[in-house]
Amino acid sequence: MFILFSTVYVACSDDPTEESNNDINVALEFQKYVDRFIEEGSSRGYEIDFSDTGLSIQFGSALPEDAAGVCSELGTGTSGSHEIEILKSYWEQLTDIQKERLIFHELGHCELSRPHDNSVFSNGDWKSIMRGSPLPPDKTPIVNYTGTRRDYYIDELFEPTTSAPSWLNLSVPYTDVSEDQKSMILSISDIEEFDELTTLTREVNFEIEMEMEVLSGLSFSGIYWAGPDIPNSLHLYVFDGKQIHIASGQQLYGIMHVFDYPSNIAFQKNKFTIRRVDDLYLLYFNEQFLYWLDYFPLRSAKIGSLNNEMVNDVRFHNVNVYTLD
Ligand SMILES: [Zn+2]
Repeated sequence: MFILFSTVYVACSDDPTEESNNDINVALEFQKYVDRFIEEGSSRGYEIDFSDTGLSIQFGSALPEDAAGVCSELGTGTSGSHEIEILKSYWEQLTDIQKERLIFHELGHCELSRPHDNSVFSNGDWKSIMRGSPLPPDKTPIVNYTGTRRDYYIDELFEPTTSAPSWLNLSVPYTDVSEDQKSMILSISDIEEFDELTTLTREVNFEIEMEMEVLSGLSFSGIYWAGPDIPNSLHLYVFDGKQIHIASGQQLYGIMHVFDYPSNIAFQKNKFTIRRVDDLYLLYFNEQFLYWLDYFPLRSAKIGSLNNEMVNDVRFHNVNVYTLD
C-alpha cells in the first residue's frame, strides 16, 4: 500500500536498511498535496524542505476517535515529529480540496509548528484551517476552504498573524436586484415536494426563490440547487426549527455553515433565496443576507425540495426561478 519515495527533496541513504530519521516516506496518494504545500509555501516566500526532518505520511488505523489525521507530535520541529497518519476510510470520502485541507492541516502541525486554533470570525467562518480538537460542539467542523477563501486560509496557515480578510464584510442587500430585473422562467406553488430541471445555464445570472411552511415536525426541510449529486450542489435548509444549514457545494461534503436563530423559525412561512450574480452565490433568508460563496459551474440545473417526510409535513409555495438582467 505504501510507496517508499525517493524524492527530489532528499537524497535517500545509500544503504536502504540503514535506519535514518530523515527519510521521506509519503504514500503515493498524498504526494501531490505535499507538492502543493511546498508550492504554496514557495509562492509566499517560505522554502519548505523536509530533508532535515524527514516526512512520513501513511494510512493508519489506530487513530484517536473522531480524528481524520494525526501528526505524531504537535510541531516540535524535531525529526520524528514529521510522521502523519491518515484514516483511510475517511480519506476515501473526501474531495480533492478537502484532501488538500487535511494534509495542509497536518503539515501545519509538523512543519509550521502550529497548534489548533478554534477562533471564529463574526460571519461564522473559521479563522484557520488549524481548527481542531477539542472542537466546540455547536459548530460544524467543515472549513469553507473554497474559491476566494482558500487563498486567505493558506496565507493564514503560513502566517497566523495574517489580517482578517476583506471578504468578511461582503454583504449585498436583497434589494440590490429590483423586480423589473427579473424574468420568470419557472413557477411552482403549493406542493409537498418538487424536483425540476430548469433551463438555467452557466452564462446567466439568476435567482431561485422558495417559500416553505412547516406544518408539523422538526427535522430538516429546504431546497437544493444544482443537484442532487453531492458535492456538486448547494443545500439550504432549516434544521430542527431553529438553525439554517448551508451544506455541500463547491466540492465540499457536509455542512458548510450553520446559522442559529434565537427565535424559533419553524411553523411560519420562510423564504429562501439563492442568487447567482457573476462570480458569486448570494444567499438570503427572509430577504436578509445570509452568506456568500464563490460561484461554481453547474453540473446540473436541477432544483428540488429537501424534506424528512418521515417526520415533517411541509408545504412549498412560490418556487420561482428567474433570470436576471
Ligand atoms: Zn490537528
